[in-house]
Amino acid sequence: MSACSGGCSGGCGKSAAKPATDRRSLLRTAGAFAATLLGPGVTLYAFGGEAKARPQNEPASPTKRWGLLIDLNKCKIGCTACVTACNDYNGLKSSGLPEIDAQWIRKVTLRDPRTGVERSAPVMCQHCADPPCVDVCPTGASMKRADGIVLVDKHICIGCRYCMMACPYKARSFVHEEHDDQKVNAPRGKGTVEGCTLCVDRVDAGKNPACVDACAREGGAMIFGDLNDPESEISKALRAMPTVKLRADLAVKPAISYANL
Ligand code: SF4
Ligand code: SF4
Repeated sequence: MSACSGGCSGGCGKSAAKPATDRRSLLRTAGAFAATLLGPGVTLYAFGGEAKARPQNEPASPTKRWGLLIDLNKCKIGCTACVTACNDYNGLKSSGLPEIDAQWIRKVTLRDPRTGVERSAPVMCQHCADPPCVDVCPTGASMKRADGIVLVDKHICIGCRYCMMACPYKARSFVHEEHDDQKVNAPRGKGTVEGCTLCVDRVDAGKNPACVDACAREGGAMIFGDLNDPESEISKALRAMPTVKLRADLAVKPAISYANL
């Protein structure tokens, strides 16, 4: 039996069928921010703590919708604590060839051309509610759990990379090489696609994602929690301040929100 590469133990399912999103058309409609995403560069803050461990053998609950709120006023330019934590926790190491290195989260520098003000933003898989990566996957390897976490099952991924082309956030990487020193929590397979799992094993254990905990030590730009719980810290924060989604016009309904963008 194939096991979910991201630690998913049930509750996965493909979203309702809809026309595949064409990446070129997505990029054609991209605004200034999307153009900036393709450039170098980002920071975040986060708290959480309200999550509880999911009992083993119990499927992911559709009553949950895990998400992040990133306050860019608290995300320092030059800080890469989230990136380092993600790489360390998931065993992502440099190959010496940056063009083939995995990048599950990256810092992007955003500059307002009118004022010259710069912002630094962490960008990872947006764990879309209507994920085009899932829609285009021919094998079902790209999947969305019942609680909204989007994963790749490496056991059935054939490495076609359709999902990489469909993702408007450039959030997925292809594994070009064998990796002998993998982390148990993040198995990696040459010839398959991977991306941010929202640290699904940590979430299932009732913890914050690794980037969120690292960010909290730097000032706390990231809040992780259950978007479906009106009493969660993230839901309260989302009600308290204006926030935006990256490329909201694409209607893929990301679980990641940004404040002060
Ligand atoms: Fe899929 Fe990309 Fe959305 Fe993540 S950000 S769920 S990889 S389309
Ligand atoms: Fe990486 Fe986990 Fe943060 Fe996703 S949630 S970017 S896998 S540290």
